[in-house]
Amino acid sequence: MGDLRNNFWNWEFWSPDVNLHEMQDGHLDLLQEARTEAGVVFPVNSGWRTIPHHNAIYEELGITPAPPSAHPEGWASDIGTGTSYRTYHIVKACLKVGFPRIIVYNTFIHVDNHPERKRFPQPMFKRGRW
Ligand SMILES: [Zn+2]
Repeated sequence: MGDLRNNFWNWEFWSPDVNLHEMQDGHLDLLQEARTEAGVVFPVNSGWRTIPHHNAIYEELGITPAPPSAHPEGWASDIGTGTSYRTYHIVKACLKVGFPRIIVYNTFIHVDNHPERKRFPQPMFKRGRW
C-alpha cells in the first residue's frame, strides 16, 4: 500500500468490493504534486480496482472494458471535477507535473502514468454519461 503523502485519504483509492488499495508510489507522488499545484478541490473518485470491480463498472455501463486499464495495476486515478473552473485547473496541473495520459470526461478526469503505456500527445476529451 502506497504512502498517501500530505492530503489524500486511504479510502479515496479503495476498490469498494474489498476496501483496500494497491496504488503505486510513483502514481501517488505525481498525484500529490498535481494536487498541490492545482489549488482547487481535488477528490479522487476511483483509484485502485480489483479486476472483478473494474469489469463490473463496465458491465453496468453495458460496454466492453477498454483494454488495458491502469486502474487494476495502481497507476490511475479518476478525479472528480464538478465545474469547468476546477476541470481547467486540474488538467493544467496534471499537464504541468507531467502526467502522460489525461482523459477528460463530463464529470471526472482520468490520469495515469503507467510506465509501460504510451504517452498521449495531448489530453483527450470524451463525452459520456459518466
Ligand atoms: Zn480512470
